[in-house]
Amino acid sequence: MARTDDIIGRIIHAHGTNDPHKIAAQSKIMVLFEELGRNIWGYYACINRIPSIHINNRLDEFRTKFAIAHEFGHHKLHPGVNTPFLRKNTLFSVDKIEREANNFAIKLIVGNNTPEYGETKQGFLLRCGIPEEFHVFY
Ligand SMILES: [Zn+2]
Repeated sequence: MARTDDIIGRIIHAHGTNDPHKIAAQSKIMVLFEELGRNIWGYYACINRIPSIHINNRLDEFRTKFAIAHEFGHHKLHPGVNTPFLRKNTLFSVDKIEREANNFAIKLIVGNNTPEYGETKQGFLLRCGIPEEFHVFY
């Protein structure tokens, strides 16, 4: 997805980081950690034009990062769209905007890293700290 690559390149350049939490903070988007139960990882809301990202406070470190990046992806890619909750069991959603946000999240986390000569996709993504179950989004 070339458009996503361009957008991410610009974001990392502008913010000087690929850390989703820092980027959200610098973009004046509140990230709130909440009790969201077992299945909802997070959601994006924009009320009276004030954007906020809501994240399940039980997620582990990687999933927290992924969920913030996913919801920030909606903010960048799907402004004005009523986006669904990011749920554990709809991670593999066929919904176009969900697939785009998942792809955005993984590419943001990869950041400026590039595969080394001869490195497999799996080896590369693991080196970027991305667990195997998320490799499908790259
Ligand atoms: Zn989503």
